[in-house]
Amino acid sequence: MAESVITYLKQKPSPTSMNFQQALDEVLQRNLSQEPIVRLLGAEGKESAALRRLADEEREKAVGKSTCVHAVLEFSNFCRNDCLYCGIRRSSQVKRYRMPKEEIVQHAVWAVKELGYRMIVLQSGEDLSYDAETLCDIAREILRQCRAILFFSIGQRDFSLYESLKKAGAAGVLYRFETSDRALFERLRPATSLDARLEHLSFLKRMRYLIATGFMIGLPGQDMPALARDILALGKIAPEMISVGPFIPSPLTPLSKHKPCGMTLSLNTIAVLRLIHTRSRIPVTTAFETLYPQGRREALLSGSNSLMVNITPRQYSASYAIYPGRFGSEEEIEKLTREAVEFVKSMGRSVCRGYARDLRPNLSAPACA
Ligand code: SF4
Repeated sequence: MAESVITYLKQKPSPTSMNFQQALDEVLQRNLSQEPIVRLLGAEGKESAALRRLADEEREKAVGKSTCVHAVLEFSNFCRNDCLYCGIRRSSQVKRYRMPKEEIVQHAVWAVKELGYRMIVLQSGEDLSYDAETLCDIAREILRQCRAILFFSIGQRDFSLYESLKKAGAAGVLYRFETSDRALFERLRPATSLDARLEHLSFLKRMRYLIATGFMIGLPGQDMPALARDILALGKIAPEMISVGPFIPSPLTPLSKHKPCGMTLSLNTIAVLRLIHTRSRIPVTTAFETLYPQGRREALLSGSNSLMVNITPRQYSASYAIYPGRFGSEEEIEKLTREAVEFVKSMGRSVCRGYARDLRPNLSAPACA
């Protein structure tokens, strides 16, 4: 998989001259190339509204009203990397924390037993102080105490660590490539490599992890063709879940003076992804909810079918400052959970808090256990 994505990314782009309807037809007929995608991403006004409405209809046809509510637990904000867009980068002056193993287990089990979560993403920066043994202990102990589907979002760690984690019961990984533009990747993620990241993704897929991956929208230096190529690269990875989020500048980073991503581009991106990946889970990431007052609602109406609730204990959550003012990070977790569930219902959707089988796109219908 990694090789095909890498080869694809080396091909040269072509300019755009399509009208909106032609572009839509191309995408709907699965003639996927950069040109129609660029045209759709740039849709404004009535065209953007039509694109999003169509994506919403496709979502309804493909996966029905079922909308997931899952949890993210950020257990450490230490990171060895120095990504230019990230507020918890190594050189950031943020207050650091690491949750002890027992506290991570206790909190995750509480979220499953008391709040009804079935899927939890355990997330951190690339923090090597959690070794394979510790992470495996955490996974095993959570799964011993409750039934849950565990995703790990811990960055580029050794293959052997991921192998051990899989044996310990981890079901999925959240591992975004962030941008498929090589030059941009190398500029924004110093001392890391796009090829290595894609190789990792390929390995994780071969290991039969459930894959959640994606990219950032509106990064400084990312033009529309680059964004279209991110979408096309995603098609070659074929993940179970697609995670994209608008760029929000953090005052703790060198990109602090750049503009955040506009809402229309963010929603158009979700809509195009839904038209291509009809059966995937496409969460409304917290960045949407943070950046746009109506972000949750608008994303759900543009093709999204999942909400991620931040359940990080509140004594830590403000320090997981990847960007400022993160939605819900100060609110009581029980209240935030109730509101997410009620919000989904208020949109005429059914709440799915299902297990792994919901995430395999080749299953006939999303089954809420
Ligand atoms: S984006 Fe991820 S890898 Fe990069 S600095 Fe932030 S937490 Fe670390």
